[in-house]
Amino acid sequence: MKKQRSKSDKFKMRCPKCKRYNTEVIDTRTNMTFVSRVRACNECMYVFTTKETVDETYDHPKYKKLMRELQQNQIEIFNNNKEEK
Ligand SMILES: [Zn+2]
Repeated sequence: MKKQRSKSDKFKMRCPKCKRYNTEVIDTRTNMTFVSRVRACNECMYVFTTKETVDETYDHPKYKKLMRELQQNQIEIFNNNKEEK
C-alpha cells in the first residue's frame, strides 16, 4: 500500500539529508529573478535553502535592461570573490 501524502505535503520539500518531508519554510526572499527560501527540517534539524527561478524570456525592454544590470552585478561579485582568495 502506497503511503498517501496530504495536499499540503505537495509543497513541502524533501530534506536532502534525512529524505523526509517534514520540512517547513522559515524565510522567503523574493527577487526579480528568483525566490529564495530558507527551509528547516523538523526531523534532523537540517537547514537548507532553495531557489526558484522562472525559465522564461521576456522581450520587454525594461526587463532586458534589468537582466543586463543583474548579470553585470553578478560578474562583479564573482570577480570580487576571486580577488579575495
Ligand atoms: Zn532532515
